[in-house]
Amino acid sequence: MQYLSTRGGMNAASFSSILLEGLAPDGGLVVPNIYPKYDIRKWVKKTNIGYLDLAKDIILNFAPEIPSEELSAILNNAYNTEKFQSSVIAPLNMLGDSLAVLELSNGPTYAFKDIAMQLLGELFSRQLNLEDKYLNILGATSGDTGSSAEYAMRGRDRIKVFMLSPKDRMSEFQKAQMYTLTDNNIHNIVVDGVFDQCQQIVKNLAEDLDFKKSTNLGMVNSINWARICGQIIYYFYGFLQAKNCGWVDNKISFVVPTGNFGNVLAGHIARQMGLPIYRLIIATNENNILEECINCGIYRPRPAQNVFNTSSPSMDIAAASNFERYVFDLCDRDPTYHNQVWQELKINGCINFKANGMYKKIIEKNSPYSLFAGKSDHKQRIKTIRFLWNKFQRLIDPHTADGFSVGMNIMEKDEKIIVLETAKPIKFAETIKEALGFKPQIPTKIVNLVNLDQKFVSMKANIKDIKTYMENNV
Ligand SMILES: *Cc1c(COP(=O)(O)O)cnc(C)c1O
Repeated sequence: MQYLSTRGGMNAASFSSILLEGLAPDGGLVVPNIYPKYDIRKWVKKTNIGYLDLAKDIILNFAPEIPSEELSAILNNAYNTEKFQSSVIAPLNMLGDSLAVLELSNGPTYAFKDIAMQLLGELFSRQLNLEDKYLNILGATSGDTGSSAEYAMRGRDRIKVFMLSPKDRMSEFQKAQMYTLTDNNIHNIVVDGVFDQCQQIVKNLAEDLDFKKSTNLGMVNSINWARICGQIIYYFYGFLQAKNCGWVDNKISFVVPTGNFGNVLAGHIARQMGLPIYRLIIATNENNILEECINCGIYRPRPAQNVFNTSSPSMDIAAASNFERYVFDLCDRDPTYHNQVWQELKINGCINFKANGMYKKIIEKNSPYSLFAGKSDHKQRIKTIRFLWNKFQRLIDPHTADGFSVGMNIMEKDEKIIVLETAKPIKFAETIKEALGFKPQIPTKIVNLVNLDQKFVSMKANIKDIKTYMENNV
C-alpha cells in the first residue's frame, strides 16, 4: 500500500511517512493508491465480533508496515473499556424495525472524533519514537475537535498541544472538559476573539515555513489520513451488528451528519472496499453546501461570513475539506483531470458537476459513487429530538438529530437505516432543554470536572504574541 496526492505531485509514500501530515507537498490530499477489497463474509456468521479484531484486520491493509503485535497494542490502548465505557466501543442500538443508531460518541469527550483521535495519538507516539522526533501540534477549536485532540495527546512525552479557543464562545461543559487538563504537554490558549480568528492564526502560522520547521509544527485537522482510516472500521462494524440483529435483507443504508466530509468519506471508502451499503446519505444543517451539491449538481463553498451559527455547530462549515478525496475518485483518480476540476473551483468559485458530466455518477443509484442528501433546520431537529424521545425513549444530540431528520424523511419502504451518532446530548444541553423541557443528566465524571481548577493562558488575537508564546514553550 502506497500513498499518492490527489494533485499528482507527490512520489509514492508509505503510511508512516504520511502519518504526521495530511496535506501533500503539492497542496493536494494524500490518498491510498488503491482501495483494498475486504471480504466481510468471514465475520457475518460470528456473534461477538470484537471491535479490535476487526479494526486490526482492516487497518493492516492501509498500514502494512506496522507489525501485527504492535498494532494490537496500539488498538488496545486506543480503544478500551476505560475510555469508551464498554468493550463494544461502537454499539448499535435498534430503534424499532428499520431504524438504528450507531453510538460513536462513548469516548473520553463524548464526540465521535475520539474514535479517530485516540488512534492518532497512539500512532503518532509510535512514529515519533521510531524516528526519535518531537511534535508540536497547533490547532483551533470551537469545542469538539480541540478537546478530543487534547484527550488523545495528553501525557505523551514527544508531543505538545497548543490549542486556540475563542473566549466565551464555548459551553461550560466544553470549557471544563478542556481547561481542567493539567498535563504539562497541553497548552490551552484562550483567544480574545471568535473561532474564525483562531483558525486564521493557525493557518498563517502553518504557512510560515521557517516557524513550522523550527518548531516541528504539526496538525491533527480533519484531512489527516489516519483519522479517516480509523473511521472506516465502524461502518463495517455497524453493518455486521445490524446483520447479527436480524437485518438480513440487503437494503442497509447509513445516514451521516456531515461537516467536512470526513465521516462520510470513510463510508465511501468502506463501500469501495466492498461493504454492500445500499445508500450513503449525507445530512447537513442550514449550512448545506454538500446537500446543494448532491441535489443540484453544483459544489459552491461559501465565504466564512455567510456561514450560519446553528444548533448543530460542529457542522457549521464554509467548505468541506475532505470532499477533494471523493472528487478525485469521481475523476477516476486521474490527477490531470482532477486538477482541471479543482482549477474550475478556483476560477469560478464552484464546480458544476452537471456541466462536467460527472453528475450521473453522483446520483445514479447503482453507481459506486452515489450519494444522497438532505438538510434539516433547527425546528426539524427539535421535532426529531422530541420524536425519538417520545417514541423510543432515546435521547439524541442535535447533530444526530440532523441525521434522523434527514433519514426518516428520505427513507424508502423496506430500507433500513443506521444513523451515526456523532455526539452525546449532554454536550448540547440547552437544545435538549428546548426540545424536551429538561437537561440531560450530567455524568458524574463531568460534575466533578466543573469544580476543578482550570489551566489556560489568555491572549489577544495577535499572531505575534501567540508565536512568541509557542517559541517559549515548545
Ligand atoms: C466533527 C463533527 C461532525 C462532522 O464530521 P465531519 O467528519 O466533519 O463530516 C458532526 N457532528 C459532530 C458532533 C462533530 O463533532
